[in-house]
Amino acid sequence: MLLESKEMAEDLLNSFMTGPDEKGRFGDFGGRFVSETLMPLILGLEAEYEKAKVDPDFSAEMDKLWKHYVGRPSPLYFCERLTEHFGGAKIYMKRDELNHTGAHKINNVLGQILLARRMGKKRIIAETGAGQHGVATATVCAKFGLKCVVYMGAHDVKRQSPNVFRMRLLGAEVVPVTSGRGTLKDAMNDALRDWVTNVNDTFYCIGTVAGPHPYPAMVRDFQSIIGKETKEQMLEQEGRLPDTLVAAIGGGSNAMGLFFPFLDDLNVNLIGVEAGGKGVNSKMEHCASLTGGRPGVLHGNRTYLLQDDDGQILEGFSISAGLDYPGIGPEHSWLYEKGRAKYVSITDSEALAAFQICCEFEGIIPALEPSHALAHVAKISSDLPKEHIVCMNMCGRGDKDIFTVAAALDFDMEIIS
Ligand SMILES: *Cc1c(COP(=O)(O)O)cnc(C)c1O
Repeated sequence: MLLESKEMAEDLLNSFMTGPDEKGRFGDFGGRFVSETLMPLILGLEAEYEKAKVDPDFSAEMDKLWKHYVGRPSPLYFCERLTEHFGGAKIYMKRDELNHTGAHKINNVLGQILLARRMGKKRIIAETGAGQHGVATATVCAKFGLKCVVYMGAHDVKRQSPNVFRMRLLGAEVVPVTSGRGTLKDAMNDALRDWVTNVNDTFYCIGTVAGPHPYPAMVRDFQSIIGKETKEQMLEQEGRLPDTLVAAIGGGSNAMGLFFPFLDDLNVNLIGVEAGGKGVNSKMEHCASLTGGRPGVLHGNRTYLLQDDDGQILEGFSISAGLDYPGIGPEHSWLYEKGRAKYVSITDSEALAAFQICCEFEGIIPALEPSHALAHVAKISSDLPKEHIVCMNMCGRGDKDIFTVAAALDFDMEIIS
């Protein structure tokens, strides 16, 4: 009995899956750096989430919606031609781009909106950068007849007009944010401000593994369906676990969702791919928070951030609007310092090349975000043995990106008409 509990205690110590602690910290990262006015809201949310997590009715409702509304499980697809083309490791894709609304965002939005319904909240607010999280939130709000307000940087409203129109069609109000530089970081600040002033009826639906505790852990839990399915499907198709998992990182939610169920499978390599923009050595024209930033506090948690010598947050740059968040989820900062996961960066031009290869060899038009993951897969696969299994998360489809890609390739859309 004594031995058993000692072994159990050691297992717990050796596990990467027990975090965060009761203060919401993953080692030195995470936590709850918020004003006193926000504290009761966050504690209320945490209490409700703890209850929902162990309520079988809550998981049953999630499962039903994932199946019939989102289209889960998403397939695990063996990329025969890419494997042949790169001439090394076996390449698989987890096809989360096939989800309703075209990316992984809806996995998490459904969870949070079901929670909001449990709490009797009738008004949902969200921040969005490229617009994918805003569209997913507007979608689920329409489905449940909830009021939806989306904060979006004025700069992003201009460059992502199709997504702004989608949100409006879905009945959401889109608020352009002009404070700061008018980007995702400022939209998140305004959403937090709205939450404090509309305490009673409002639920804040955050789009990635960022924000104050419990958001990073909660969003990770909802996105972990990606890794859970991948594990089951890989065992079914290959009879064993993959050797390497690769995912693109903006705030880090799709990567955390893929990695989490594998954290204690120490033989599985985990690789997060940050947006290298014009190169990590270029003068801040990238979004690689881990590779090019240092720890600081933003949006209620401590994590690696892009900042100048005075601690001012810098705006990132990437061809992919969905990756230009200046921070990264605190759990990634911890996994990075622990050495459990590895983080690399891929430049715009490498991502563009991978985008084209994916279209031509697999008949899949990928979003620019997972094109970064694929570019890294391309880099490592040919040197790996044929029995090595690499699996990347195809976290979004590329319909939203075709105009950006056309411009980058100097393709004149006018010729077609
Ligand atoms: C939003 C988005 C991302 C970046 O967010 P994470 O939280 O890092 O997953 C990546 N890919 C796609 C397709 C997205 O829509």
